[in-house]
Amino acid sequence: MDCISKRVAALAVSQTLAMSQRSQELRAAGVDVINLSVGEPDFDTPAHIKEAAKKAIDDNFTRYTPVPGYMTLRQAIADKLSRENGLHFDPAQIVVGNGAKQELCNVILATVNPGDEVIIPTPAWVSYVEMVKLAEGHVVELPTGIDTDFKLSPERLEAAITPRTRMIMFCSPSNPTGSVYTRAELEALAEVLARHPHVLVLADEIYEHINYTGTFTSMASLPGLEGRVIVINGVSKAYAMTGWRIGYCAAPLPIAKAVSKLQGQYTSGVSSIAQKAAEAAYTGPQQCVADMREAFRRRRDLVVELARRIPGLKVNEPQGAFYLFPEVSSYLGTRTPDGRAIDTDTDLAMYLLDDAHVATVAGSAFGTPGYIRFSYATSDDNLREAMRRIAEALGRLEGRKG
Ligand code: PMP
Ligand code: GLU
Repeated sequence: MDCISKRVAALAVSQTLAMSQRSQELRAAGVDVINLSVGEPDFDTPAHIKEAAKKAIDDNFTRYTPVPGYMTLRQAIADKLSRENGLHFDPAQIVVGNGAKQELCNVILATVNPGDEVIIPTPAWVSYVEMVKLAEGHVVELPTGIDTDFKLSPERLEAAITPRTRMIMFCSPSNPTGSVYTRAELEALAEVLARHPHVLVLADEIYEHINYTGTFTSMASLPGLEGRVIVINGVSKAYAMTGWRIGYCAAPLPIAKAVSKLQGQYTSGVSSIAQKAAEAAYTGPQQCVADMREAFRRRRDLVVELARRIPGLKVNEPQGAFYLFPEVSSYLGTRTPDGRAIDTDTDLAMYLLDDAHVATVAGSAFGTPGYIRFSYATSDDNLREAMRRIAEALGRLEGRKG
């Protein structure tokens, strides 16, 4: 019986989660896999945040929560947006959901009509395209490559906008490339968007704090974009809280209300306990954020240095997030010593998993074949050993070009 809806049948499986699951299964079967696939901080959630969650249970924060989140948490988020980003959002414009992931999807479902065009510069995080497909929107991908540091130029943006463009999705610092747009680069894009007031901007700022440039510019702070930027952020990356599932959107009021209506029908408000933990994250000491960023920066330096020693990998120096996205095309069209063909980046990622026992994610999952993503949110020892295994496995491939 064909019982799956066309909508869900057409969706791709999340490759980041699939590779991570595969690596966990291999590990459970006794294989010593190093997991550089899923992107999540390897640190424990800071103690004061965990204490706040325990207290929330004892204080009986155990009932249904308001659909858009506790007012105290939304106020803490509004205060964060004002303090750190110079943005003025009323708590009524903020909706807390099950991670940034749910709020991205909610905003898309709340704003995109079937056939509307949604511009996505690629490489882009695996879920963007699938979320737009769920809303029956039409994805307009704008491919970029390592030679331009994976950044979109104002000219290409201008050329892609049509009267049917509903939204552009934007991610800086970027998953999967680690690129961080400068304020001047963002201003140049904003100047284009200012000429097209019918276009909404969905700005995924989840890696705001994992940024080694020393400055961060929120899209919502740029002139010409007032009232049409939806900011997405959350606690997963900055506070090592991926499992707590707290993210938010800060949006123009009608969009926030629509997101809340949607959420009210299919998930309700997020876990009371996780919300109180997130409130502690935003109102408590912030040193933990800086400490984790510093650890990620050190690891970035290490992994870039090690990757640059591997012949044939083209490696940029990511300025944020915790991913390296080298170009690997010189290894495509090769063969393993036992004769398996490595024709695509997916073949290469599978070879690295099966033969080197290092889990990565193929660039095609992010819309950009010919690349591989490594998450370096793991220990120095793991990174050294993983890069040693990768170098060795790549060195065994026969017929490399160049
Ligand atoms: N956006 C990007 C670019 C991400 O990498 C992630 C991480 N999965 C998310 C959104 C979602 O984060 P979360 O749902 O854990 O808040
Ligand atoms: N952002 C992470 C990644 O890209 C988490 C996994 C996911 O939700 O896709 O690997």
